[in-house]
Amino acid sequence: MIKKRAIKEIVDLHSSSRENKPLGTVLRLSRWAYPVTALGPGRRLAMWVSGCSIGCPGCITPELQPETSGKPISTERLLARLDRLPDDLTGLTLTGGEPFQQASVLAEWLGQVKQRKPHWNILCFSGYTFTAIQQLGSGARDLLELIDLLVAGPYRVSQLPGEKSAAILPSIGLPHPLLASANQTLHCLTQEGRAMEIACRRMPVNQANLGLSGDGQGMLIGIVTPSARTEIHTRLGGPVEES
Ligand code: SF4
Repeated sequence: MIKKRAIKEIVDLHSSSRENKPLGTVLRLSRWAYPVTALGPGRRLAMWVSGCSIGCPGCITPELQPETSGKPISTERLLARLDRLPDDLTGLTLTGGEPFQQASVLAEWLGQVKQRKPHWNILCFSGYTFTAIQQLGSGARDLLELIDLLVAGPYRVSQLPGEKSAAILPSIGLPHPLLASANQTLHCLTQEGRAMEIACRRMPVNQANLGLSGDGQGMLIGIVTPSARTEIHTRLGGPVEES
């Protein structure tokens, strides 16, 4: 049974007007939410960056694919926002959109996040394969240096192994709660990343957090199979926006 979880805040940046004047380095960001428990271990801040040119058929966030989606936000303002977050958050999950298409800005910002929140661990979802990321250039390599656990590879709807199960992680032969399709790979880039991956195996598969976006629309947050998604929508009485 999917439990409803309270999300304290989802900031939908499409509807934010205060952040329209960027200062210094800017990041294109669509939304963030906390506390999120469906996108990695613990209680996390989840951030959805804007823009992705990979174009996976069946992408659940097609509205985030245009570079012009979301809003430009200065990294200074984003840092200032961290100070207002609850103390009990344990990490940051970067997703989108495609984080590695804003790699240099994210790397610079994340370096400062790590100074302010040294106890946070960092998880990132990318639609690029690990090999492709390594060939993207210095910004991508800088960003990789700051990530503990990486989920890499495009979403391939045709590679879902079945209606009822999530993608299998070959090394353990079990569905893994962070894999949306079987081609995707997990990369523990640090010792902390290894601990995170082991902790993830205890997470429920098909876990979803529910929240409200800035315009009052329901939002489903998590890695869920198409059949589980349909079941959630049915229980809620209609489709909700997905992240
Ligand atoms: S990489 Fe992610 S955001 Fe980009 S098209 Fe694929 S599923 Fe969508």
